[in-house]
Amino acid sequence: MSTKSGQHGLVLGGGFAGILAAHVLAAHMDSVTVVERDVLPSRPEPRKGVPQARHSHLFMGAGARTADALVPGLLDAWTEAGAQLLAAPSDVAFLTKYGWLPRTAHDEFVLCCSRGLLDWVMRDRVLRNERITVLTETEAVGLTGDARRVTGAELRHRTSGERTVLEADFIVAATGRSSRVDDWLAPLGVPRIPVEVVDAGTAYATRLFRPTPEMHRDTPGIVMIANVTGEATGGVLLPLENGLWTATVIGMRGSEPPTSDEEFQDFAKRLSHPAMAELISAATPQGTARGFRGLLNRRLRFEKLPRHPEGLVVLGDAACTLNPSHAHGLTVAASAVAAMRAHLRRHGAVPAVAGRAQRAVSRSAVTAWQLSVNDDLRHPDVVGPRLSPMVRAQNYYADRVMLAATRQPDVTRALLDVIALAAPVTSLMRPRVLTASFRNAGGSPTDSSADPLFQPRGA
Ligand SMILES: Cc1cc2nc3c(=O)[nH]c(=O)nc-3n(C[C@H](O)[C@H](O)[C@H](O)COP(=O)(O)OP(=O)(O)OC[C@H]3O[C@@H](n4cnc5c(N)ncnc54)[C@H](O)[C@@H]3O)c2cc1C
Repeated sequence: MSTKSGQHGLVLGGGFAGILAAHVLAAHMDSVTVVERDVLPSRPEPRKGVPQARHSHLFMGAGARTADALVPGLLDAWTEAGAQLLAAPSDVAFLTKYGWLPRTAHDEFVLCCSRGLLDWVMRDRVLRNERITVLTETEAVGLTGDARRVTGAELRHRTSGERTVLEADFIVAATGRSSRVDDWLAPLGVPRIPVEVVDAGTAYATRLFRPTPEMHRDTPGIVMIANVTGEATGGVLLPLENGLWTATVIGMRGSEPPTSDEEFQDFAKRLSHPAMAELISAATPQGTARGFRGLLNRRLRFEKLPRHPEGLVVLGDAACTLNPSHAHGLTVAASAVAAMRAHLRRHGAVPAVAGRAQRAVSRSAVTAWQLSVNDDLRHPDVVGPRLSPMVRAQNYYADRVMLAATRQPDVTRALLDVIALAAPVTSLMRPRVLTASFRNAGGSPTDSSADPLFQPRGA
């Protein structure tokens, strides 16, 4: 059901989730206002409010397809602007703790480009809609209404300091990982929202490199899946739209990567395979390395509130922030907006639909949360709940599947579908995967130096 009854929608935060949500709301309301604290760049470039944009972003195919279903033509627009579609795993070499996954043919893909390009292309398409207005340099500082219903937001202009209240019939909060929406709800009388945190102290350091055009064309993407126990390091090397590589090294509590240029290279050499260090030492560094710490998992359990406040949906990182080394945040954000759209279509953008939409948003993040948290809970110094027998059993089986996936292409594909959030975790319980995983249980890891890495991309 699509209703346009003179209503006003308000979106707090003009990042990835906020812009997608504005597009969806605009189909149901006469006008939509996006409130964004930054000036939005008119070119593909990073900005202060999205500091993670300086770090490698790999967008899972499942998320890109969801975004394209919400904004038709978006996937083509991304690739026309230079984003690279890499077939996975044939164009992306994944190193697990048991060795490389075979670069087998499969119909999954990942999208690689700078985060600046990803956001700019989407903004460019969505903001052509005349129903949508963006208030830039404007910060949301609170919500208005009461515990029963949220009716608007308090805003502050960042240069003039002027304060206003903007009323709306339906509000989406998408203010990202630094969101304070739970603090904003407390003064309205909403009970404290239960929060779950699992923090393995993940930290990133990222540097850009210019390889030769041949190296850029021929080198597969590299994802060295962070090994939570042991030396706790991982790495990512991805091609960007402008002939550059983005290289990220990842460590967890106790082995955080340094950001000085020399130490960055040394840290890359200590990864479980030398390929990434060798490749970047043959390329020309562009600018200095940048760090990002405090990459924890945090989710607000709105579904546990006795009564959800009408008129408000919280989504994207504001609702669920994930350790980014699993590369799921964008896909979860797109799924959340799709879940909200399904409810708006069914019931209209009426305030009372917010609770149902919020529960659907929470459900859409469950698989990614479980994959990220189960793994991070293995870290000896993790801050979070104790490893339950159930999670131990799930991790044991996940390891068995991963080992089998290094040897059997059909298990590789099944595992990749789950990693890419294109299939539910339960798909790994299919008889073929179960049998292959337990048959391999006593086997030894493959030699990670004998790798399929140096096949050129697309070979
Ligand atoms: C280092 C790092 C690497 C990552 N790598 C990946 C990856 O490879 N793949 C992947 O899928 N995900 C990755 N992620 C996660 C991904 O970046 C997020 O999931 C995604 O940006 C969430 O979108 P969002 O719109 O919720 O938040 P954001 O995109 O961060 O947008 C939030 C917006 O709200 C604005 N804002 C904040 N507060 C206010 C306020 N009070 N008033 C007005 N505006 C406000 C900000 O300026 C910003 O524009 C990574 C994250 C990090 C930190």
